[in-house]
Formats: sequence, structure tokens, C-alpha cells
Amino acid sequence: MATQDFRPEKKISIFYPPQRVLMGPGPSDTHPRVLSAMARPTLGHLDPVFTDMMEELKSLMRYAFQTANLLTFPVSGPGSVGMEMCFVNMIEPGDKVIVCRNGVFGGRMIENVERHGGVAIVVDDKWGEPVDPQKVEDALKKNPDTKILAFVHAETSTGVQSDAKTLSELAKRYDCLTIMDTVTSLGGTPIYIDGWGIDAVYSGSQKCLSCPPGLSPVSFSERVVDLVKNRKHKVHSWFMDINLLLGYWGSSRTYHHTAPTNALYGLHEALLMLYEEGLEHSWARHMRNHKALKAGLQTMGIEYVVAEPYRLPQLNAVHVPVGVDEKEVRRRLLAEYNLEIGAGLGDFAGKIWRFGLMGTSSRVENVVFCLNALEKIFS
Ligand code: PLP
Repeated sequence: MATQDFRPEKKISIFYPPQRVLMGPGPSDTHPRVLSAMARPTLGHLDPVFTDMMEELKSLMRYAFQTANLLTFPVSGPGSVGMEMCFVNMIEPGDKVIVCRNGVFGGRMIENVERHGGVAIVVDDKWGEPVDPQKVEDALKKNPDTKILAFVHAETSTGVQSDAKTLSELAKRYDCLTIMDTVTSLGGTPIYIDGWGIDAVYSGSQKCLSCPPGLSPVSFSERVVDLVKNRKHKVHSWFMDINLLLGYWGSSRTYHHTAPTNALYGLHEALLMLYEEGLEHSWARHMRNHKALKAGLQTMGIEYVVAEPYRLPQLNAVHVPVGVDEKEVRRRLLAEYNLEIGAGLGDFAGKIWRFGLMGTSSRVENVVFCLNALEKIFS
């Protein structure tokens, strides 16, 4: 059979992306060490040299999450797949899940609960405010048969951080499991999975870990492993069933899916860098650069969306000054300075900007560059 003729409208050649500075809500810049690790020779996903690297990757991930959980591994998929993996494994039809919603990603959790046959009890807080533990406790009292409490630690759509320790203590008091989203917090702000007693956690490679998008570190407590082993119904996803994935990420090393080997070299390098820097130093660097950016933005009269005690250092959400065309400023930053910042989502669309200082993008040179660019555009 003849092949179909292919005549592209314009000549297609090698794709060379421009060198941007990524200071939006993610992805952040990938560190050159990570890019270079990903360019190393591809190995088979069952090659013993590769599986040795997988063991290191799991221990580096345990360090980043501050957990001893055996079931800690990277999911082949973005943060949303890590999120779905928690809900699809832990929910059986009719299970009650309290979901805290104070931004876009709490809303996505509700979708997950409902699509997997659970009943979502929604605890709403205003966008830009942290989850209110009192409202959560009221919901737990009203619904003593709740199985899971789910919340977003660092809400990227608003730049707010919630008190994970208190929420987890509440869940324990009412005999509930916890699911926590750390897509924006991992590496940028303190997380103690075991210290706080969190049962299921997921993150993303593309924010404070300085890695490209596409992988989702996850970790599950023994309580979750037991729950999933003793489910009444099969997990409603073949790909995300942790019982099956254990065959590959556990000791038997049986084929499950073809793992993205080069991407995993990148995550290994990124987590090694985090270990070399030390978690406390990484958290302190994110805070230092946040303070520098805040000082500069405030001299321009730009105000933060979130009250100071709850602000995320790695995600600076600010009000667009009155009379400024927010879209045009972002367009000019990209076109004239190769600098990407983020727009508002949902209720905040057109009203706020989001300046990310995440992972390797969290550096003082970026703060100065961004403030200079803004000053020139405003002048
Ligand atoms: N949760 C939070 C808090 C996020 O910020 C994001 C992405 O920005 C996600 C979940 C979804 O991650 P992904 O876009 O990698 O699927």
C-alpha cells in the first residue's frame, strides 16, 4: 500500500526551545545536572544496573518526604496521576471522604472522590485562606463514619499553606486516614510525613525538585497497604493498582509497564542534589529568595494575596495593581525578557499574578532579574 503523502505547511526542522527563566507556578527550570543525567544511555527497565538505581531513588525519596514508608516510589505520570492513584486505591464505593477546598486542586480532589464512587463531604474555605481546622473538626463530628481526610498542603492556585500537622492530628483523633497533596511543597517547605502521621502523599517532579514534569513521587503508610490488600472490590484502574505496581517497585521486579528510564535518571539526580544541599538548607533558600522578592514587589506597591503567616515562599501570589493590563505585562516579560510568570486561575483569573521561586529557579539572580524587568515595564 502506498504511504500517504505528507506535505507540511511549513518546513519542519529540529525543535530548539528558547532558554526561558521559569518563574511561574511550575514547571520551574530544570537544573543542568538533571538534564545531563537524562541524556545518559537508555537502559532496559529490568536491567540490574537500573533496578539498583531504583533502590537509591526510593531511599532518596524517603529522605525528601521524611518517611520510612517502604511503599515510596515515583509514579510514571504527572502529579494528577499521583493524586488519582491515592484516591482510586483507597476509596471503595460509598466511602465518605472529607475534602478541604480552598483553591483549584481541592476541587480536583472532589472530582476524584466522586469518579471513584466515594461520597465527598466538602469543607470550603475562601481562596487565599488556609484550611480552617475548626471547620474540619465540625465535619468530622457530623460524619463519624468518614474514612479519609484529604487536603492540599500548598495550594498553588492561591499561594497558601495549610497546617498539615494539625489536620493530620484531627484525622487520627477521628480514626480517619489522610491524603495530602505536596505537589508544590516537596523540597520547598517543611514536610514530615512520619512526624505528622500522613497516610498517603503525592507530589510532582516539576516544581521544587528542579526536574521536568511527568513524574509523581508517592508514599503510602502500612495502614494504606493493608487497606488496599484487603479491598472488597478490585481497584478500578489496572495501571494505578498499587498491588500490581508493587511487583515492579517491590523486590520481585516483575514487568508492570515500561518505566520511563531516562526520566527516572533525572529524578534520581534531582533528589541527590536535594540530599547534597540538605532539606533544611533548601527550605531556607526558598524562604530567603521569597523575602528578597517580597521586599522588591512591595517597593512597587504590589500586595500579596495571602496573609503573611500562611504564605508559601515558593509561590508568591500578588494582586495585579489597579489599571495595569496583567496579560500585556506577562506577554512583554516573555517576549522581551524570556521570563515566564503565572496568571491567576479560576476565581483569580485576570486578578492576580503568581511568581514561582521553586527549585533551581529559586535563586537571587532570578529575583533581581524579575524585579528589574518589572520596573522597566512599569516605567
Ligand atoms: N496539585 C497541585 C497543588 C498542583 O499545583 C498541581 C499542578 O500544578 C497538581 C496537583 C497537578 O499536577 P500535574 O499538573 O503535574 O498533573
